[in-house]
Amino acid sequence: TPSDPALGAAVKAADRAHVFHSWSAQGLIDPLAVAGAEGSYFWDFDGKRYLDFSSQLVNTNIGHQHPKVVAAIQEQAARLCTFAPGFAVEARSEAARLIAERTPGDLNRVFFTNGGAEAVENAVRMARLHTGRPKVLSAYRSYHGATAAAIHLTGDPRRWPSDSGAAGVVHFWAPFLYRSPFHAETEEQECERALRHLEDTIVFEGPATVAAIILETVPGTAGIMVPPPGYLAGVRAICDRYGIVFVLDEVMAGFGRTGRWFAADHWDVVPDLMTFAKGVNSGYVPLGGVAISDEIAATFEKRPYPGGLTYSGHPLACASAVATINAMAEEGIVENAARIGEEVLGPGLRELAERHPSVGEVRGTGVFWALELVRDRETREPLVPYNATGGDNAPMAAFTAACRASGLWPFVNMNRTHVVPPCTISDSEAKDGLALLDEALTVADRHTA
Ligand code: PLP
Repeated sequence: TPSDPALGAAVKAADRAHVFHSWSAQGLIDPLAVAGAEGSYFWDFDGKRYLDFSSQLVNTNIGHQHPKVVAAIQEQAARLCTFAPGFAVEARSEAARLIAERTPGDLNRVFFTNGGAEAVENAVRMARLHTGRPKVLSAYRSYHGATAAAIHLTGDPRRWPSDSGAAGVVHFWAPFLYRSPFHAETEEQECERALRHLEDTIVFEGPATVAAIILETVPGTAGIMVPPPGYLAGVRAICDRYGIVFVLDEVMAGFGRTGRWFAADHWDVVPDLMTFAKGVNSGYVPLGGVAISDEIAATFEKRPYPGGLTYSGHPLACASAVATINAMAEEGIVENAARIGEEVLGPGLRELAERHPSVGEVRGTGVFWALELVRDRETREPLVPYNATGGDNAPMAAFTAACRASGLWPFVNMNRTHVVPPCTISDSEAKDGLALLDEALTVADRHTA
């Protein structure tokens, strides 16, 4: 890894002068200048390497700079960089075919977007037009994106500054046994009570006003809460009972993250619409989309769909999706994610939890794991308060700093660290990461009661 501190300083200086960063107080951030990346690693201009346990924003499922995907982008760039969505373009046709082949049930059509939030926007638009109803139900402890409908659907504090209070969104509680909104003690109770709560919410909102229910199949940023058996099938049944469109948001959980192509495959549940982005092409070129059931597609067979984007199905993005999906299939990358979860990350993280009093719970599947960090395992008091900022967040900031100092790049949200490396991660890389996490957790342990 060559080092070039002078270039690093210039990159950083121009960033600080001119780049306006997401979700940040511009004067309080210190972005790392990154020089390059490969596989599970990236490095800075001083030559310091980091094991990427975040997959960036949980999107580089195929790892950094996969050679087949890089080559496909180069070849597509030489052939046809861009073309309007109204044309049939080979890369776009093939990407849609490969996606439709893998999505569950009869999700046979794909509307392409530039990312996850636009996929959610269009899924909501389709559901409202298909049903003629105004409202959408979504869960607390969720993230669906930062555009208008998507941020209103989001069930975490990032919604608050943008909430108009008039978006036709109603929030409900989804199952989360560790911090049960229903005071349940078993998964069966949690599942049954969550379904009853959802149905009660619909009955009292007025079923004829509800267009859609949207859920992350496995909620991601909000905490990787794997739903109890029967929950998603129960939501499907409720949607069928009241003529409500069931939207699964697989932007983060899809394309191998949970050890299956789609998280919905774990429970054989088929939604009416499924949103995807991130892992579809590991974000090498921005891409997202909505996979659409035959019934909803039929609504727009004779009536125009009132939505579009200049870059819908962008050829460079679609060519990278084709190469990504083919490489994932050829190289058994989804199977690798499942195996690493079962054989290395799951057992390794549970072993860390036994030794570190700051770990309240370990949960997840595949390469999609959360560690709930707590002050006290008995009371489950979070290591930092919900939505902590500034000094209140110091214990998590210290944990994050310890990870980074050791060469591990973690994904941290509130009182949790998520272990979300690429689906391509090797056994030895995963074990190296667990060893670094072990050290950093001693820092979190200092803040326990
Ligand atoms: N939906 C889920 C489940 C996500 O995790 C995200 C992003 O993290 C989004 C939607 C929004 O995607 P994007 O940031 O590409 O707009």
